[in-house]
Parts: sequence; structure tokens; C-alpha cells
Amino acid sequence: MKPDLFEAPDYYNLDELLTEEHKLVRDAAREWVKRDVSPIIEDYAQNAEFPKQIVNGLAEIGAFGPYIPVEYGGAGLDQISYGLIMQEIERGDSGVRSTASVQSSLVMYPIWKYGNEAQRQKYLPKLASGEWIGSFGLTEPDHGSNPGGMVTNFKDMGDHYLLNGAKMWISNAPFCNVAVVWAKNEEGRIHGLIVERGMEGFTTPETHNKWSLRASATGELIFDNVKVPKENILPNKSGLGAPLGCLDSARFGIAWGAIGAAMDCYDTALRYSKERLQFGKPIGQFQLQQKKLAEMITEITKAQLLAWRLGVMREKGTATSAQISMAKRNNVEMAINIAREARQMLGGMGISGEYSIMRHSMNLESVITYEGTHDIHLLITGLDITGLNAFK
Ligand SMILES: Cc1cc2nc3c(=O)[nH]c(=O)nc-3n(C[C@H](O)[C@H](O)[C@H](O)COP(=O)(O)OP(=O)(O)OC[C@H]3O[C@@H](n4cnc5c(N)ncnc54)[C@H](O)[C@@H]3O)c2cc1C
Repeated sequence: MKPDLFEAPDYYNLDELLTEEHKLVRDAAREWVKRDVSPIIEDYAQNAEFPKQIVNGLAEIGAFGPYIPVEYGGAGLDQISYGLIMQEIERGDSGVRSTASVQSSLVMYPIWKYGNEAQRQKYLPKLASGEWIGSFGLTEPDHGSNPGGMVTNFKDMGDHYLLNGAKMWISNAPFCNVAVVWAKNEEGRIHGLIVERGMEGFTTPETHNKWSLRASATGELIFDNVKVPKENILPNKSGLGAPLGCLDSARFGIAWGAIGAAMDCYDTALRYSKERLQFGKPIGQFQLQQKKLAEMITEITKAQLLAWRLGVMREKGTATSAQISMAKRNNVEMAINIAREARQMLGGMGISGEYSIMRHSMNLESVITYEGTHDIHLLITGLDITGLNAFK
């Protein structure tokens, strides 16, 4: 792969909106990605393998629980810092960002928000340091966009719960030490259970043959009469709103992360357009290529403003789920469009692993589907503005 010469675009001087701490956090993540992710990620993606050696680095840049309080091992940062870390990681690879997102927003967040003190003390420091990796089991083979229909269930057996069912498309599953699993009790109410590797009847087969997020491990979570200790239920929130609260946090991170992938594609195409000569001129001198680049930087700038404003609202606690949906949907579509245009600008080289663009492009096909599909987020906006439910 080519050396990482990335220079971040900042067309509207958005740095002026950031604090010194934001910039320090972002720059540390950026340097780490250049040093430890860019040189190896193409090979790992080609080999469909997660680079486990980067786990310590992810922990060191604060990517595991950026906004989780320091007393639990988190980085104790604000929401914009969290967003900037996700942006930088996804600039390297969406699969690596997925691992960090799941760990932070889908595993640490519910344990912090919905767990009790003993659960926080037991799990959060290990997850923050990367000693343990977590996964989040919501999606099932027959229930994706409609998780409320889940059939995974648990029964109260007196001194333990008995968990049965299966989850599919679960990031980090093949090597997770712990899983936050959403299942229905005998009354049909959804609860979160903490399931640990080693519990009898719990298996995590890997999902193969993915053309997307190849550097992120995906698998199933299978529960065959798993005895879950009673102290492993998350006591402070139940119902579908509990997993959806986690998804709000993860979707916010994706809205920022997608900007990183788009920036990398734009920056690569811009540099290439000045170096690649055709008809005796750099291709960047042709109007058609300039149109592509001008539209890319315009869309990136709009997405940056959306993400920054959402970060301010999220920090104040005023951002709604529907506002988060809008940013996730807009920014991922922006990134996927830029990846496609940037790939064309590199001609044949655009499909080569010498450059990151094709990998970003394939990765973003998962990002536009997981954490709520593109269409589902549109329906959420539609419901929000009309008050009319078009889901069913
Ligand atoms: C690489 C990867 C990693 C993932 N990681 C995780 C994870 O860690 N944890 C987890 O729980 N899940 C994870 N997922 C699952 C992901 O969240 C689901 O794939 C997603 O929610 C969509 O569900 P589905 O695939 O079953 O599609 P479906 O729900 O079957 O949707 C198929 C199509 O129908 C459309 N559709 C569905 N309902 C409606 C409707 N009412 N109106 C209009 N259109 C509709 C959808 O938009 C979509 O286009 C992951 C997925 C991938 C690909």
C-alpha cells in the first residue's frame, strides 16, 4: 500500500470550533492511525482478519469508552472528542472503527448506563483497557430492522436464568470475551444480559465470505440452554428503548466516522488528480474532475457541520434519536458517494489495494446497512416530521 500522506480537509476552518483538548485528542488518534493502522490494514482486509495487535493502541488513544468516566477506566472526554476519535479511526478503516464503536457504545455504554455498580466495576475497566473485547447481540436471523420481534428468550429458573436463541451479524463475536445480549423474558419484555465466554452452551461461530468490513470479525452468538447468573441482568432499563439508547450513541459515532472515510477518499483523489497526467495535463485540470472534487469538499464540509452541531446538542443532552438518525443517514450516504466518485478518479488504480478507496467503498456498504438501514433512518425522519408511522 502507498505511504499514508493524508492531509485533513478543513474548508470552513472548523478547527476554530474545537477546543485545545479536542485537537489534541484528534491529532493523537490521527498520528496513531498513520503509524499503526495504515501500514497494515490493507493486508488484514485482504486476508479477512482483524489485526488484534492494534487493540492496545485503540485503548491508548481513548477509543474504548471515550466518554465513560475515568473512575471506570474510560477517557472521560466529551461527545465531540468521541466523534473526532471515530472520525480518525474510520479514516483508517471502517472495520477498525466498528470494533471501537461496539466496545464503547454497545457494550460499555449499556453496562455504564443500565448496569449496577458491581457490574460497572467488574467489566468497564477491563473493556476500557482492551483486556476484554465485547460484542452486542441484537440482530437475529429473522429480525433485523424489526428487533422488537426477537425470539431469543430467557426463563427464570430460581437461582439463574436459562437463555436460548441466536444472534446474527455480530461484530467482534468470534473473539469476544463478553456479550451484551438482548432477550425477552417470559412476559415478552426485552432485557440486557451479560454473557461471558466459557458459559456452557454459548458459542460464537465466525461469518465468512464478507466483501465488506473484512478487517472486522463478524459472527453469530448462539445460546443453547445457557445458564446466566442472576447478577448478570442489566437492572436499570428494559424494553426496546434500552438497546435503542445504545444505538443512539453508536450512530452518533458513525456520523463522525463516515466523515473520516470520505476525507481519506477525497484527499487521495485530490493528490492523484495533481500527479496523474493524461493528454499532457494533470487530470485535476479537467473540468469534469474538478466538478467531482468541488462537490466532494462541499459535501464533506456540510457533513462536518452537521456532526459538530449534533455533538454540541448531544453534550447538552438535547439531541433526539431522530436528529441522530438524520446525521447517520446523511453522512454515510455522503461518504459512499464520495468513495464511488473518488474511485473513478483514480481510473484502474482505483480498484487496487495500493490505495484505500476501494476498501472504504466496500466497507461503507456495511456502514449504510448496520445500526439501522439507510431506508429505516429515512422512515424515522418521516415519522418525526409527520407524526405518521410508515414502518407498518
Ligand atoms: C458487517 C455487519 C456487522 C453488524 N454488526 C452488528 C452487531 O454488532 N450487532 C447487531 O445486533 N447487529 C449487527 N449487524 C446487523 C445490522 O444491524 C442489520 O443487518 C440491519 O439492522 C438490517 O437488518 P437485516 O440485515 O436483517 O435487514 P432487513 O431488516 O431484512 O432489511 C432488508 C431491507 O428491507 C428494508 N426494510 C425493512 N423494514 C422496512 C420497512 N418497514 N419499510 C421499508 N423498508 C424496510 C431495509 O431497509 C433493507 O433495505 C451487523 C451487520 C453487518 C452487515
